[in-house]
Amino acid sequence: MILVPNRSEEYQLKILNVLEEEDLGLSISQIAEKIGLNRNSTAKYLEIMAEKDLIYKREQGPTQKLFYPIRRSKSFEARADAMVRFYQTLHAALFYDLLGDTKKAREIGYEMAKKGVTELYTKQFANYEFKFETVVHLISIAVGITYPTPLVKTRVHRNPKDKNSFILEIKNCICDGMKEYKSICEIQAGLFKGVIEDMLAPQKVNVEEIECRVDGAESCKYLIRKLEEPTDS
Ligand SMILES: [Zn+2]
Repeated sequence: MILVPNRSEEYQLKILNVLEEEDLGLSISQIAEKIGLNRNSTAKYLEIMAEKDLIYKREQGPTQKLFYPIRRSKSFEARADAMVRFYQTLHAALFYDLLGDTKKAREIGYEMAKKGVTELYTKQFANYEFKFETVVHLISIAVGITYPTPLVKTRVHRNPKDKNSFILEIKNCICDGMKEYKSICEIQAGLFKGVIEDMLAPQKVNVEEIECRVDGAESCKYLIRKLEEPTDS
């Protein structure tokens, strides 16, 4: 007997294929367009697939849901490798007693961005010219996907006081409110700076953590500011 996939299975396979091509997730409409099916049917298949643990979805703001493949893909493995490197560095940082040495922690994050994480997120957009706003949003999404704690929620706010800056908010950051983990947030600050500057070169940015769970704030907030003139430092 030959097993012929039915219509539903055929579409599910198509959905898996398009999801595996896209590292940063896709919305229902984007998937519908790629597989040539209407939005309602696509949503129905996505629900079935999420129930079967073939894919997972993540709320991105109040109205948008993004979908990702669970099955291993090349991009997933590359991302996993980068995350392993990330956490090895993190452990090294903690081991070498960087606690309190925020400057060094930040340098480490910046170096990490140069070595791998940037490559991972820019490779597929090599010929694309990014806007500052887009890069900050990409980072927000990337942090949300790659974080080891499922409760993490990231959000980007426009800074009402300054058109050249955004606030990236991380809820349930892995610093977990513990004083000795403050350097994690500093590594992240360096990492964000490295990724942004790489994607927007030669534009330089300032990244400061302005609120932190470690200091009793509800979430960690980073002020990401575009410097007016590209500089060499
Ligand atoms: Zn923090």
